[in-house]
Amino acid sequence: MPEKVVIIGSGPAGWTAAIYAARANLQPLVFEGAITAENHMKGTLPLGQLALTTEVENYPGLPEGDSREYLRTALPPDRQPYWVQKNKPQPGHGINGREMMELMRQQAIHFGTRVITDDIIRVELQRHPFLLFSLEEQRTETLAVIIATGARANYLGLPSEDRFKNNGVSACAVCDGALPRFRNQAIVVVGGGDSAVEESTYLSKFASSVNLVHRRDQLRASKIMQQRALANPKIVMKWNRALHEVLGNDRDGVTGVRLGSTIPGDTQTEEIAASGVFLAIGHTPNTDFLKGQVELDETGYARWTEPQRTYTSVEGVFAAGDVADSYYRQAVTAAGTGCMAALDAERWLAARGWL
Ligand code: NAP
Repeated sequence: MPEKVVIIGSGPAGWTAAIYAARANLQPLVFEGAITAENHMKGTLPLGQLALTTEVENYPGLPEGDSREYLRTALPPDRQPYWVQKNKPQPGHGINGREMMELMRQQAIHFGTRVITDDIIRVELQRHPFLLFSLEEQRTETLAVIIATGARANYLGLPSEDRFKNNGVSACAVCDGALPRFRNQAIVVVGGGDSAVEESTYLSKFASSVNLVHRRDQLRASKIMQQRALANPKIVMKWNRALHEVLGNDRDGVTGVRLGSTIPGDTQTEEIAASGVFLAIGHTPNTDFLKGQVELDETGYARWTEPQRTYTSVEGVFAAGDVADSYYRQAVTAAGTGCMAALDAERWLAARGWL
């Protein structure tokens, strides 16, 4: 028997779709992603990008507060955050990204969602039931699919950046920022959006200074986050600069960077000593496994084919969250489209008499 609906991905879109699908008796199956070294490197581990962030301040309904008791009672013991398990003080002032994703996952399971910790690496969507292939060679047939695989952080593509990945170069401050190699050292962050500013602020807790390298003379980040960063004495703005090379050696990893100017005609370069380089320059959707199967836009995002619907170019395949949204890219919008995708899938299945 094919599944009624399979959800691929485990960020806010995936879990919200699962909660709605489970409550509609669709018995959803979620492929939450595999725990592999490659996924760690790429930033595509289960629970998505939100699990790589710190406090979530803009998701409605979760104000500042002590969430210890709630987490203790809401999550199974083996999925408690370390600070609850070890009875340590709460590290932030509200819910953090990973905790929020664990809560969403648990809510989906509570209503009967089944979860497989594996990646879908290939799909056949030109036949029906659809056929999905997992990394661990599981084949799954399903009547409907919700794609919620999100997006991952970009790198600049410099050979020197590649050379020092995991040895001082990272695209996830929250994952790697607390490592001993970065403590009380100068650090470089590249980018000018909310991620760059948030990561700089976070890293300033550990680093002696944070050089925020931006290619323009104005940040793209939201005003409130800009203000926080610009008022932070440890954050040094490097305006109109580009990262030309990551400097280092095999023993020490990153030891510095060479920056160039982005002002036309300005050929000056500058070297800064630093033990780490954090990239925060935008994202790429996780759609490699969909190529040739579902229509993607020129930057690889799944294309919604009708306004206000999560339909893709294949009937019965729906897309939700950042995988189809290069514009808003918020936890709450991802959750919203996850809900829409589950309702769209339910109605699509019902219209064919498959419920
Ligand atoms: P983003 O808003 O797209 O910003 C990317 C930044 O990287 C831009 O400043 C861009 O410069 C720069 N950039 C892009 N390509 C570059 C290159 N090749 N070389 C040098 N610089 C480059 O991405 P984001 O900061 O990851 O944010 C994504 C979304 O998530 C946004 O909607 C954001 O609001 C949201 N977000 C929210 C929070 C929060 O609310 N706590 C935290 C993180 C992210 P230009 O400005 O010149 O284009």
